[in-house]
Amino acid sequence: MKLDKYLQQQGYGNKEQTHKIIQDGNVQINGATIYDFHYQVLSTDVISISKEVKKVIEYQYYMFNKPDGYVSSKSDKDNKTIYSLLPNSMSNLSIVGRLDKDVTGLILLTNNSRLYKFLINPKNKVNKKYEVLFSGNSKFIDQDTSQGIVLDNGYRTEPFTIEILSSDQAIITLHEGKYHEVKNIFSSLHMKVINLKRISINELILDKTLKEGEYRELTEKEIDSFMKLLPKK
Ligand code: URA
Repeated sequence: MKLDKYLQQQGYGNKEQTHKIIQDGNVQINGATIYDFHYQVLSTDVISISKEVKKVIEYQYYMFNKPDGYVSSKSDKDNKTIYSLLPNSMSNLSIVGRLDKDVTGLILLTNNSRLYKFLINPKNKVNKKYEVLFSGNSKFIDQDTSQGIVLDNGYRTEPFTIEILSSDQAIITLHEGKYHEVKNIFSSLHMKVINLKRISINELILDKTLKEGEYRELTEKEIDSFMKLLPKK
């Protein structure tokens, strides 16, 4: 990743602001001052920024493995929220794509509002992948989903793909995020979702070492996989 982009990702402002920081000699890499904003940052580089340079905003990105029984909202008078499982310092982060109370798996949390808006905008067609345990005879064999399907309520979904793993397990990948969408797709085809777990959002894959209720910061590589989606300013 280029040095200016790295600094933008770290919250040091936009392109112009980060170029100025670099050109003013505020960035040292492995002990040497670097003035070239095209410098390719390596994961082994030791980067230090002059103390006088303040971050515009400290961006945070976390993945959380949501357990069953928690709602994806900040407050709820009847239910436990996922924020009750997170430290107070994370209460300002937004949930990028809510999951139903009984749905488990990957939740992305961030305070980067530009990324947030991009990922939740249906126009941007960001893929989400779910593991599904279902009951009822699979009707997907003869089903063309390349143009979406018409739900019981008459709504035609966006295209999606489905991979049948066994008589009761499937992986569904869709870029739409309508309320209860996966459950509605299955019920429109006379099947019932017994268990639903989100396993990926775009290239971000739920870390298998995270137990339900646990969270971790995204790695630089994972953050970059989202950043490269954003239109250049
Ligand atoms: N589809 C659903 O039905 N529920 C979710 O929480 C997410 C996708």
